[in-house]
Amino acid sequence: MVSDGFHYIKRTRVREVAGYTWGVAPILRVWELRKSYGPVRAVDGVSFSVEAGTIFALLGPNGAGKTTTVEILEGLRVPDSGEIELFGEKVTKVGPAQKARMGVLLQEGSFEPYLRVREVLELFRTFFPKSREPEELLDLVGLKEKRKALVRTLSGGQKQRLALAVALLNDPELLFLDEPTAGLDPQARRHIWDILRDLRAQGKTVFLTTHYMEEAEALADWVCIMDHGRIIAEGTPAELVSRFGPATFVEFELPPPAFPELSDRFPQKVRQDGEKAVLQIEDLAQDLSALLSWASSRGLSLRNLLVRQPNLEDVFLALTGRRLRD
Ligand code: ATP
Repeated sequence: MVSDGFHYIKRTRVREVAGYTWGVAPILRVWELRKSYGPVRAVDGVSFSVEAGTIFALLGPNGAGKTTTVEILEGLRVPDSGEIELFGEKVTKVGPAQKARMGVLLQEGSFEPYLRVREVLELFRTFFPKSREPEELLDLVGLKEKRKALVRTLSGGQKQRLALAVALLNDPELLFLDEPTAGLDPQARRHIWDILRDLRAQGKTVFLTTHYMEEAEALADWVCIMDHGRIIAEGTPAELVSRFGPATFVEFELPPPAFPELSDRFPQKVRQDGEKAVLQIEDLAQDLSALLSWASSRGLSLRNLLVRQPNLEDVFLALTGRRLRD
């Protein structure tokens, strides 16, 4: 497989420069990681590799085991078994030497509400022997104008950007973000995405967990789809959706009584999603015209008709029979 001058051999990315092949060492490798809470196998034999300078996404529904995985990698939990290689070194438990080189944004972080934005950064920088300048970080996360604002007056997106600035104080090579945009509105989410792309452009590695397939699609160079503690598929977003070949999806509202007839007309290709029908078609012109003729002959209006390419939600559904966000 070749893309952007890179190709993959046994999942190790190598770059070809002037006829020579240079290995790009992964910054993080995990083999057969396991962690149970009593009878619950939260992480059940997970292996993956993260290339330096990329955005890696662990995508999965609630309870898939993403937070447990990321907390092991952040050194907050001890795995039951498995191997971790971080910054080129094998470790049984992530310790201070590795933590000094990483930044962490926890799923449920909060700051003292009566501190000012700049004061939060000044406070947290005292934890590190060397740190980046708060003003520089406020600029990077777009909070310069809010430097004197009280934390309690910030919006959800602004608080999350402040948390990101705190995670960057020690100038980490590897940044862990657990559900960085959960609960944010689309504009705030896009703002965070832009910052993460900037960080990648600066050579940082970003490891994020998310249950938003749009987030993984928009940002990630490599996606591992996780479900019930296991990785069920991995690849670039484009590779993962390529399983559908040249298929296109057509969605529209359909009265439930019309579903069986639509299924007869397009066998194996129709899915009912609440009030919506989702039809997988191969030949856009021919199949769409057959659909419109069928609807017109039945007097159906096919409201909110949408034609789209397959996405990671379709991949998850095809693999598990469930949606990412049920
Ligand atoms: P979410 O997005 O909801 O945080 P997740 O994919 O991050 O989900 P985890 O939080 O790792 O998943 O949870 C994986 C499984 O382990 C779930 O079944 C959860 O209920 C269980 N679990 C997580 N933490 C604990 C704990 N401290 N004690 C017992 N069970 C736990």
